[in-house]
Amino acid sequence: MFTAFLIKYAEIGVKGKNRHLFEDALIHQIKYALKKCEGQFLIHKTQGRIYVDAQTDFDFDETIEHLQKVFGISQICPVVYVRDEGFEKLCDTVVKYIGDVYPGCNKTFKVNARRARKDYPKDSMEINADMGEAILNAYPDMSVDVHKPDITLNIEVRENIYVYSETIPGPGGMPVGTGGKAMLLLSGGIDSPVAGYMIAKRGVKIDAVYFHAPPYTSERAKQKVVDLARIVSRYTGPIYLHVINFTDIQLYIHEKCPHEELTIIMRRYMMRIAEHLARENQCLGLITGESIGQVASQTMSSLAATNEVCGLPVYRPLIGFDKQEIVEVAEKIGTFETSILPFEDCCTIFVAKHPVTKPNVKIIRRHERNLEERIEELVEKALKTDELIIVE
Ligand code: ATP
Ligand code: MG
Repeated sequence: MFTAFLIKYAEIGVKGKNRHLFEDALIHQIKYALKKCEGQFLIHKTQGRIYVDAQTDFDFDETIEHLQKVFGISQICPVVYVRDEGFEKLCDTVVKYIGDVYPGCNKTFKVNARRARKDYPKDSMEINADMGEAILNAYPDMSVDVHKPDITLNIEVRENIYVYSETIPGPGGMPVGTGGKAMLLLSGGIDSPVAGYMIAKRGVKIDAVYFHAPPYTSERAKQKVVDLARIVSRYTGPIYLHVINFTDIQLYIHEKCPHEELTIIMRRYMMRIAEHLARENQCLGLITGESIGQVASQTMSSLAATNEVCGLPVYRPLIGFDKQEIVEVAEKIGTFETSILPFEDCCTIFVAKHPVTKPNVKIIRRHERNLEERIEELVEKALKTDELIIVE
C-alpha cells in the first residue's frame, strides 16, 4: 500500500543559510542507507520536505530499519501516493486507506489538508470538511476530534497527492557530515564503538585508528575491530580505519619505564599518534571511550595525564556513563555481541599488577625521558605501518 516516505527532521539549528547543507547531507546519508535495501528509491526535496519515493517493489520493514539508522531523521511517515483523478476518487482511496490501516474503524480523527498547488479546486478548509464527511459516512464508528484525535490524517496536495497518518520514530541527531570529522580511537572493547556512535549522531564523520600489537594481539582481535567498525558504519557511512602496528613502542616502554606507569605512558603515545593521523586527515578532534573511574587509566588524574599530550580537543562522550548504561547503548546499536568476543585486547605482559591511579604528570614526563633515544624513530616507524582499511 505505502509507496513513499515523508522524512521529518528536527529543525533546531537548521534555519537560514545552513538549511540546504543539512538537507543535502541528510539526502546523501539516506541514499547510502537505502543502497543496501531491496528496491529502487528516488529521494527528493520539495518545499522544505524530503521524500523517499519507491520506484519498484520494496521491503517495507527493511526500508524502515535502514531509515531508522540515518541520523538527522526525527520521524518517518509512510505515505500513500495518489494520482490526482478528482476529489471523489481521492475520497475513495482515503476511505480504503483507513479501513486497511485502522481495521476497527472506530477511532477519533481529524483531516489536516495542505494545498501546495493553488489550482486544486478545493482549498484546505474545504478538503478537511468534505473528506471528514466522506470518512464519517463510510465508518459510523469513527468520530471527529480536532483537539486530541487518535489519527491525524494528512493530505498534501502537490502535483500528486500524499496521504499519511502514521509516524515512526527516527534516531534523531544531525546528518553525518554536517559537523566536520573526528578520529575515533577504536579498540575491540565495549566502550569505544559506542563513543563513536554518539559523536557521529551529532553529525560528525568518523575516521578511526586501531593500535595493533602483533604477535601479542592476534589477527582475530584485529578482525573484531574491523567488524565493530562495520557495525558502526551502518550509522555513520564508510569509516576509514587506520591500523597502526604499536608493538615496538609498547616493548620499548616496557623496557624503559616503571611498569605501574606503563598503561598511562602507552596511552599518551596512542594519543600522540592518533593526533598526528587526525591532523593529516583533516579531523577536528579525537574521540575515546573513556569514562571517569572505570579503570586505573581513567581516573581524573590519569585522564589529565593522557589529555596533556593532545593539542586537539578530545571528545569523551561516555565520560559520565556507568558501564551498564554503556552496555545498553551497545546492545541497542548492535555492537555488544561482537565487543564481548574473547579475543585479547592486549597481552598481559603489558598490564601492570598495580597500575598508578594518581599519576603525577611531572613524574610521567620525567620517565618518558628514558625513551628519548629511540622513541621518535619508533613513532615514525609505527606511522609507516599505517594500514588503511575502508570499512562499509
Ligand atoms: P574500550 O571498551 O573502548 O576498549 P576500555 O574500557 O577497555 O575501553 P581502555 O582500554 O582503558 O578502556 O581504553 C580507553 C580508550 O582508549 C578506549 O575507549 C579507546 O578509545 C582507546 N583505546 C584503548 N586501546 C586501544 C587500541 N588498541 N586501539 C585504539 N584505541 C584504543
Ligand atoms: Mg579496551
